[in-house]
Amino acid sequence: MKTIMVCLKRVVDYNVRIRVKPDGSGVVTDGLKMSINPFDEIALEEALRIKERGEAESVVVVSIGPGDCQQQLRTGLAMGADRAVLIECDTDISPLIAAKVLLKQVEKEQPGLVLLGKQAIDDDCNQTGQMLATLWQRPQATFASKLEIAGSVATVTREVDAGLEIIEVDLPAVVTSDLRLNEPRYVKLPDIMKAKKKPMETIAIADFGVDLGSQLTASKWEAPAERSKGIRVKDVDALISALKEKELV
Ligand code: AMP
Repeated sequence: MKTIMVCLKRVVDYNVRIRVKPDGSGVVTDGLKMSINPFDEIALEEALRIKERGEAESVVVVSIGPGDCQQQLRTGLAMGADRAVLIECDTDISPLIAAKVLLKQVEKEQPGLVLLGKQAIDDDCNQTGQMLATLWQRPQATFASKLEIAGSVATVTREVDAGLEIIEVDLPAVVTSDLRLNEPRYVKLPDIMKAKKKPMETIAIADFGVDLGSQLTASKWEAPAERSKGIRVKDVDALISALKEKELV
């Protein structure tokens, strides 16, 4: 295939402890370490491996978000993507809007495969890939833990509640990555230097002609209740009595 398109979302790094703003209007993001959504990094690693096996000619990384997303796109370029597209947008967008905008980019790129993360760890929606496939009217294989390409067919092992499911999808298709698909490579300094010279296109989201009005509004954000401390018991008898006391058995 010619191109693989990988969608990268900029999110608060998974190691950072999230705090809700005192007025409940959202979470604090100022000054926090931001990273590529971990599942998207896995998606990109998979695209690069497919390209390295000679099954794709190029990898383009695409992000929708503020200008600062350039940092994550540059990391994607340093990992090995050939070019990047930033769709600049200063407001939060819902998965449906993201899918509609990504569809427009898909129509431009005409990729043989679109890879996304199974979910973004900021909103945990797990919707964008499914919505994009539906809007594009192409097959989808979500929660991929293995991906093999043979001509115009992808064989995908999916992680489902009952275990593993293997399906075949005709390409072009949308695949979303699960945790066990691969382990992303580390970026080395020379790659970071090389990435500075790789092409990055910036497009204003307004140019996509998608209505950004969302049907979803968040009315209030609250931190979850503190978990009470656990207790350590001496032996099985003590464990059973403790469970009985709490009426758990
Ligand atoms: P979600 O449905 O929000 O959990 O996101 C699922 C996946 O869609 C993410 O892992 C990304 O690959 C992709 N995605 C969602 N929002 C964006 C965005 N603003 N820019 C690029 N990719 C995105």
